[in-house]
Parts: sequence; C-alpha cells; structure tokens
Amino acid sequence: MVNRTSNRSGQALIFIIMIVVILAFVALWNFDLHKIIYVKSLSQNAGDAAALAGARWQATSLNLIGDVNVMQAVALTRGDTNEAAAISELQARLCYVGPMIGLEAAQQAGKNNGLFNNDRFTARLMKHADTVLTDYRATGPDGRMLFQEPFPGCWTEYAQMIQAVAANGVAVGPDNARYYSDFAGGSLLLIPDFYDAVAGTDWCWFYHHAFDLLKTYVDYHSWPPLPEIIPTPEPLNCEYFGLGLRRLDLIGDARALPAMDSVRVERNLSPDPISSTLGSVMSSWYCYDESIWGPWDSISPDGENNFPATGPVKSQYDYAGGDAVTRVMATAPRLTPGAGTSKITWTAAAKPFGYLEAGGKQIKPNEYGIVLPAFREVRLIPIDASSAPAGGGFNLDWRDHIEGHLDDYLATGATVAGCYYCMALLVWENPVFRQTGIDWLEVNKGSCEIYGSGGRHGGSRRGH
Ligand SMILES: [Zn+2]
Repeated sequence: MVNRTSNRSGQALIFIIMIVVILAFVALWNFDLHKIIYVKSLSQNAGDAAALAGARWQATSLNLIGDVNVMQAVALTRGDTNEAAAISELQARLCYVGPMIGLEAAQQAGKNNGLFNNDRFTARLMKHADTVLTDYRATGPDGRMLFQEPFPGCWTEYAQMIQAVAANGVAVGPDNARYYSDFAGGSLLLIPDFYDAVAGTDWCWFYHHAFDLLKTYVDYHSWPPLPEIIPTPEPLNCEYFGLGLRRLDLIGDARALPAMDSVRVERNLSPDPISSTLGSVMSSWYCYDESIWGPWDSISPDGENNFPATGPVKSQYDYAGGDAVTRVMATAPRLTPGAGTSKITWTAAAKPFGYLEAGGKQIKPNEYGIVLPAFREVRLIPIDASSAPAGGGFNLDWRDHIEGHLDDYLATGATVAGCYYCMALLVWENPVFRQTGIDWLEVNKGSCEIYGSGGRHGGSRRGH
C-alpha cells in the first residue's frame, strides 16, 4: 500500500516535471525571440543573432538537464528508483529537443533579421531526416539498429523534428554539426587548407605541412586511402548544436553532492537533504563528455594555436564544449549594371557561459563532471575558438566534395567541373605545378621560416 502511494506520487511528480519543462520552454521561447529581435533588429547581423539563439537554447537545455539531475538525486534519496528511471528518459529527450528548438530559434532569428530561405540548406536537412529514418533505424543481422537509440522511438522523433525545421525553410546552417558517422580528419584531402594552398600557390604552407608529399607525389595513386569512418556507437547528443554529454552510472566527484544539495534548497525540491551516500548509488547521470568539454585551448594565447587574445581566459570560463556555429549566405544585387549579384557568406559562433559557486569562489560549470544548472548568459565567440570543423559542417560545396567527389578522384583521378576543390586537385595533379613549388622552396624556404604562418593548420582558418 505504501509502495503504491509512493509510486503514484512519483508519477505525479514526473507529470509535473514534464509540464514545468514544457512551460519553461514555451516561456523562454517567447522571451528569447523578443529579446533577440529587440537587440538585433537594427544590426542586420542575422548570423550572429542566429548563433546567439542556438547557444541560448543550449544553455537552457543544459540547465534543465542539470536541474533534472538534482531531481533524480532527490528521488533516489527517497529510495524511489522508478521515478529516477523516468527522469533519466526525460533527460535523454532534452538532449535532442533542446538543441532542435535551438536550431528552429536560429532560423527565426535569421529570418527576423532579413534572411531568406536557402534551398540547398533546406534540401540538405530534409535529406538528413531521410537518412535518420532509413539508415539510423535500419537493423543489422543481430537485430540491433545501426545506432542504438538513447530512448525508445528517438530516431523517429528526431527525424520528425528535423523535418519540422526543414518544412519551415532553412535560412541558417548549423555549421558545427557533428554527425554520428563522419570523417574525423586524418588526411590532407579532408583539410580545406590544402586546397587553399594549391589554389593560392602558398608554397610555404607546403613547406610547413606537406613538404614530403610535395616532393614525392606522383599521381592520385600516391594518396593513402581515406581514413575509415568509425560511427559513434551509442549516440546521446543531437547532431546539430549538440550538448556534448554522456551518461555515467556513478557520480564521479563527491564534491557534486553538496552542490546538488544547494540546488535542492534553492528550488525548494524536498525538505530532506540529498543523501551523502548517493555517490555509490548506481543510476544514470548526465555528465559532460570530457573529450568535448576539455580546456578551451583554442582561445589560449600561449597554446598551440597562439590565439591573439589579450590574456588567458579566466579559469571559470576555461572550457570548450557546447557552442552554436551558424553559416548564412545571402546574395546582394550589385549596383553596377551587368555585375549581377554578390554572394555573401557569414559564419558566427556563440557559446553558453556560466559558473558554479563553491566556497564563495566561481568555478567552471563542468568542474564536477556531472551537469548542474550553471549557465547564465550567451556571448559571441571568435569562429576560430569554436567547435566548427575546419571545412564548415554546412559549407555544402565542401561537404559535396568530401562526401561525393573524393572516392571517384582516389579511384580514377576524376574531378568534378565547377567544384572549387576538384579544380584545385586538377592543378595539383600537374607535375609542372608541383615542380614549380619545389624549385621555389629550394630558393625561398628561408622566408617561410620568418613569415611562415606556423600553427597546426597554417594559422587561422577564417578571419573573425
Ligand atoms: Zn569536388
């Protein structure tokens, strides 16, 4: 009898949590939109507004997931494991719903700033929804799906959300998309700088990054095969504006418990303090994936990238991880008769910022590993300090090239007319071109030492 009552109260609590989450989303949605429109209406800077909108939803989602972690701790303190399981599924959903609302909010912010739908972006998103429905759900001989679902029905819901965004028209591309099966670099053919160096005859780039290749290359047979794509085995994060989280059975860091208890007090969740033995209770906790939420090295002034920052980033903000990168393209008619239109591409990045408080000090949100409500604001960050891949996840010319052209090129040397990257390969295949570079470097490589761009990928990828 007692058990049934507690079950019922548990279900009621879950229901209330659901309602609160939905209401919070609706309220923030309106607030967000109006604020962004207000702040950005005069700026014409649609890409920035879109990135900020995406990052704001990442911050909101992370805070909600953190709050729900604390609710789970409260439920487990009471000994209610059923409720804890239901809470965990709610978190799994938030990992998709939050970023997808962010993607839609980014579209709205872009359109409210005068952007028009981009047909290629829309088609790309529609196509990906189909891939999710067909490939992701496809089952192998062992009866398991290609990608294990984080919660039952996830792939169908996810595909529907992608379709919903695409149906409204896509004006803003999520440029830091992280697909579950994608190249992870490992070949010069997957680095845009290589093509730029060929197109711009930047021999110093070759001197720093591929001098041996320049000297020994014969023809397209010389390339090693493209690195094998290793799919993410058990995805937990949305591919667009993903939160970079993982699930752990145990709360790794005991310091998290007092921090969770102060959230309990703040939110008035329960009169009973969170159990101090919770650290050894097996459950499902949403935590930061350390491979994504590492130190924010790309903005460090004395790191490998030598980012031109005025000083080191404050310790409480020294984390990479969640950020939203957007790509917008617009055409502007030129005033000169017969000049046609100018194509304008703008990429922008924004990131949630916040901190936890412990002993009167501010510490970074991921200090304890487990997600706790910590994010307070979003700000634009330099593109080079963001998680956008070098080529740009929604640079569709680039994506078409690496997904559609490279295999043929490696097999037969064929290139596609009209593709900038294929044109660069065509130039590269010419032995006279490469010999020019070798000869030039023979004489001038000293100037590369002095003026060389250095750095991992030849200095900064993009200007801002
Ligand atoms: Zn190509």
